[in-house]
Amino acid sequence: MALTKNAVCPFCGLGCDDIAIERTETGITPQPTGCPQADSLFQRSASPGSGPRVGGAPASLEEAVAAAARHLAGRRAPLIAGMQTDVAGVLAALSLADRIGATVDHRHSEGLFRNLAVLQRLGWTVTTFAEVRNRADLILVVGPDPVASYPRFWERWVAPAPALLPEGSRRQVVFLGGTPEPKTIDDLGGAPETVAEGAGINDSVTALRLALDGSGTEAFVDLGRRLLTARYAVVVWAAGMFGGEASDLTVESIVRLVRTVDTTTRCSGLPLSGTDNLAGANYACVWRTGFPLRTSFAGGLLSHDPDAMSWARRLPGSDAVLWISSFRHETPAADIARAKGPVVALATPETTFDKEPDVFIPVGTPGIDHAGDVFRSDSVLALHARALIDRGLPRAADVLDRIGASLTEAPAC
Ligand code: SF4
Repeated sequence: MALTKNAVCPFCGLGCDDIAIERTETGITPQPTGCPQADSLFQRSASPGSGPRVGGAPASLEEAVAAAARHLAGRRAPLIAGMQTDVAGVLAALSLADRIGATVDHRHSEGLFRNLAVLQRLGWTVTTFAEVRNRADLILVVGPDPVASYPRFWERWVAPAPALLPEGSRRQVVFLGGTPEPKTIDDLGGAPETVAEGAGINDSVTALRLALDGSGTEAFVDLGRRLLTARYAVVVWAAGMFGGEASDLTVESIVRLVRTVDTTTRCSGLPLSGTDNLAGANYACVWRTGFPLRTSFAGGLLSHDPDAMSWARRLPGSDAVLWISSFRHETPAADIARAKGPVVALATPETTFDKEPDVFIPVGTPGIDHAGDVFRSDSVLALHARALIDRGLPRAADVLDRIGASLTEAPAC
């Protein structure tokens, strides 16, 4: 058995870099991390099982690449979505999108665009994980406990003693509207304080903003006073976990709260939304096109629409779909099955579908089957995740390049 220490985890965007991986002849297994995502997703068998398939039948990689090119060539409204891959894979997907005139989006971009809408309208002040861990003396979580999507957030970034606060300072954690999960209570060594538990997020934030002037119930006025007297308050939210159509208005209210407090003491936001290299995919799209995700290359022109070009809206009207999912085995299979045109899937070999894709090409996972760069959720750091095992799986970037190279030879289906 071989042991790799301090492997980088590429999954949820928190950038944990302390994963210990045991490798044997049968595959790799993580030593328990306390994170359900890492404990399950780092578990990979040495023999990946499924190879490429075309029309459900086994095929060589060359045959599958050629079939993918035939399905994607000459389409009116193709979609490249999922985009759950490393930076190299995203850049290759963007090159292919440019060739075939596709719209591009990441599977988990909903929360990102709720945040970007507010960033565009108002601007904001946000901080990094390191600042939270080292300097924040009051952490206010708005809405659901982020631990379900970002499992080690509390353990890694909040539970450690703040290195840059005066000795004896105590970090306070307060939940506004949400309920702390049992893991959070364990990680923090006790139940954090809750205010307006179970109440609507928007109403709670509005009440807190009013309470900064001393109006409202005692619990809100007290919380407002503590925000204004903190050394460094950080307001945390995970917009992808908010329900409802008007979630960007909730984000706007949070950003206005941060802005008001920041005029009196130091206060920043921490928006969490970086699963499966979402931040890296968005950056790569901006570098390449000047636009974020949800951009179309149709007709050789770039156009961006944060609502109309979401993958969920485009999928039913697309005449071909390329779905990329190289991190985790689960996909929105029911949604993908709604595609009217052919579906080409580049995914982990263990992926299952409600409806067999027209072409399936198994690809490796960045940080497991090959090295790859992924961005942390706070967007300040690109992490290089090393390869852990060689199972003969290609990188998504290489398969995408090969599909692009095959387009010229491929008569459209
Ligand atoms: S919290 Fe996120 S980055 Fe950390 S081990 Fe779990 S999935 Fe990986």
